[in-house]
Amino acid sequence: MLSMTDLDLRGKRVLIREDFNVPIKEGIITSDQRLLAALPTLRQALEAGAGVMVMSHLGRPEEGSQDLRYSLAPVAHYLAKQLDFPVRFEPYYLEGVTVQPGELVVLENVRFNLGEKTNVPALAKKLAALCDIFVMDAFGTAHREQASTVGVAHYAPVAAAGPLLLKELAALKQAMNHPQRPIVVIVGGAKISTKISLLTHLLSLADYLIPGGGIANTFLKAQGQNVGVSLVEDSMLEQVHMIREEAKKMNCEILLPTDAVVGKTFTEGCPAFNKTLAHISQDDMILDIGPETVHRYMSVIHQAKTIIWNGPLGVFEFPQFSYGTRSIAIAISNSDAFSIAGGGETLAAIDQYDLLSKLSYVSTGGAAFLACLEGQVLPAVAALTHQD
Ligand code: AMP
Repeated sequence: MLSMTDLDLRGKRVLIREDFNVPIKEGIITSDQRLLAALPTLRQALEAGAGVMVMSHLGRPEEGSQDLRYSLAPVAHYLAKQLDFPVRFEPYYLEGVTVQPGELVVLENVRFNLGEKTNVPALAKKLAALCDIFVMDAFGTAHREQASTVGVAHYAPVAAAGPLLLKELAALKQAMNHPQRPIVVIVGGAKISTKISLLTHLLSLADYLIPGGGIANTFLKAQGQNVGVSLVEDSMLEQVHMIREEAKKMNCEILLPTDAVVGKTFTEGCPAFNKTLAHISQDDMILDIGPETVHRYMSVIHQAKTIIWNGPLGVFEFPQFSYGTRSIAIAISNSDAFSIAGGGETLAAIDQYDLLSKLSYVSTGGAAFLACLEGQVLPAVAALTHQD
């Protein structure tokens, strides 16, 4: 795989695919983590004397429509403030863009283009024709086979990996290939059905597996525990039994909560009570792990040499149910282990607790991060690898 940093970019038209899919409310960017992560790549290309075009998707507009709620104009505005280079926004670019060396042109949302999602060759060719060098730097979209991630790489004169993409892949490689033991894997979140292949794959790697959130509830119910009206996927109970059998064979210990923080309704202000599992009643909803469980998980995390984390351990968005996720995030950040975390909600939680710089690596990718952990080769990475 070619790397952008190995190429002579001077005077070249360089088209970079980033992941600028950031939350925007009334024109204001409310979390700039993804933009901050991409800035070094843009600076590097501009300083090397390239004429840089950057493209990204934002949100889920209807393809072919110019729905300005999903415009990248606020991102262009943000980048203009951050960079000491001229920055221009270009709403229409498919027929060609004039770009000067040392100038950044931010292209409008790629999802406004018909054929983006289905990777239509005619669109991919138009994108490729904009540049001398295409740089894929958007780890967060590398699992998607689309015109701006995969198609363009096939038709561009040169296609290379960007520094951010390479950094993400290197961190994942360190966690997945020859990791130091003990390895603790934490998989939390709402639904086990969305993470079943992840759980199955990581069983063969982990010494300890900690299911969290609705996933832990489903494990608890599978072993006969009353979980009241907690979020559970009944259709997955059989799968849970299989995971438990597989874990035994693999010598992986599955840790489950012994106490919980419960509420009666799934609402922001609902009163919260600590309960041991034996005291859960029929109308209780388990919305976080309790202090005894936190303590137990913390001592396992303390011994770990490698920690992989995806998904919250409770409804961390409601303060009274955030204790478990927050304590685990702090424990991971205090540990000497190589720690890697990713996923939309996980990133939001770590950011909320101001711990982003305290983990070894926090991935900007959600589904792409999970796909890598499942052992998949990301299509956009494969497209760079199979260059002639
Ligand atoms: P996911 O997208 O699968 O990682 O799920 C993240 C979501 O799971 C967060 O928005 C949490 O609020 C939610 N969640 C975590 N624990 C629970 C729980 N015990 N009950 C209901 N929802 C939960």
